[in-house]
Amino acid sequence: MKVLVINCGSSSVKYMLFDMATEKRLAKGVIECIGLPEAYFNNQFTGSEETKESCKAKNHIESVEIILKKLLDPAAGMIKNIDEIAAVGHRVVHGGDKFADSVPINEEVMQGLKECFDIAPLHTPHHYAGIEATQKLLSGVPEVVVFDTAFHQTIPDYAYMYALPYALYEKFHIRRYGFHGTSHKYVAQRAAKLLKKPLQDTKLITCHLGNGCSITAVQGGKSIDTSMGFTPLEGLVMGTRCGDIDPAIIVNLLDHHEITPETLNTLLNKKSGLYGISGLSGDLRTVLKAAASGNDRARLAVDMFCYRAKKYISSYIGVLNGIDGIVFTAGIGENSPTIREKACQGLQNMGIEIDPEANNGVSSDERVISTAHSPVKIMVIPTNEELMIARETVRVLTNA
Ligand code: ADP
Repeated sequence: MKVLVINCGSSSVKYMLFDMATEKRLAKGVIECIGLPEAYFNNQFTGSEETKESCKAKNHIESVEIILKKLLDPAAGMIKNIDEIAAVGHRVVHGGDKFADSVPINEEVMQGLKECFDIAPLHTPHHYAGIEATQKLLSGVPEVVVFDTAFHQTIPDYAYMYALPYALYEKFHIRRYGFHGTSHKYVAQRAAKLLKKPLQDTKLITCHLGNGCSITAVQGGKSIDTSMGFTPLEGLVMGTRCGDIDPAIIVNLLDHHEITPETLNTLLNKKSGLYGISGLSGDLRTVLKAAASGNDRARLAVDMFCYRAKKYISSYIGVLNGIDGIVFTAGIGENSPTIREKACQGLQNMGIEIDPEANNGVSSDERVISTAHSPVKIMVIPTNEELMIARETVRVLTNA
């Protein structure tokens, strides 16, 4: 069974094709700069060189058309006939409180997605356009939507509510939703395997540290709290996002510094975090390099990043009343021994002891990096959100 995974952004369409009998990825690619003259298509069939070509993609439907044409290219021999695509899985960032699980697409779901436009205006309309495109071009093929927020719908009310007037929740659905759910769910499942424990008996803290960063408390495979909130801005220090701040700072800036809401939005989302503090970059590698060569603001950015992560880890140990394991994943979590070490530093009293040698070892495999006697196992598990979406697609369609 071949499953096509589609992830539509405002100006990009990413895809992966999986053979679900083996869970092998057959192809992946991305069309960027949709609607612009410089639009291009990066594609890679598994086992072959990556190709890059410019393309004319005015919108999402044309982009999906280009991708399908590529997959059907007889020279590539990827698929002979469009019918070989048995199902499509779409990544959708925000399902509001309407969607607590992945769902097969039908009229009602499309309507529900439209109702989520307000809550995630930068994402949902583009996901919607992508679904319309595949519905048109792959008519009759079953499709599933997989939400970044769904995994967090098990968070209890006292953890997802903000202590604001209750009417804001009732009228505007203002509450914590959480994000990166597909990734947290995937690594929690893998961690249980690595720990050789049934998932329902595990207590885990999963740290997804990429450009966006979030930490989740996972009990028995279910999310019970997470650091991102109503939007992906809350929580950790990120590449360019500030994470937790005193909300009165916003009022102060609006009142006394003639900042418009739009400028403020850019400031909090694009000019803060590692970039805002270091003044150099939101890319951790650049900041680490500068810190190593004596740049004090880069040092401060790294220290703040790790301290905030450590604060969340420590508080979730309390929330979970002890843990079996901590998982590090995504670009930073998978690749930066420095960040892992500093985020776990000084937590020996909580049973957390990192093994410097294992932590510094270079590998792309799932692995344990705590000492042999550390009560809490620290793990590095590469995330695979697209495979998880393909798995969810099969699960939903098989149960439908
Ligand atoms: P996204 O959230 O966009 O998917 P990624 O998960 O790819 O992002 O993570 C990007 C982050 O990972 C960047 O800050 C980058 O510097 C960091 N990163 C990637 N490789 C390394 C590395 N070898 N060492 C340190 N940081 C790394």
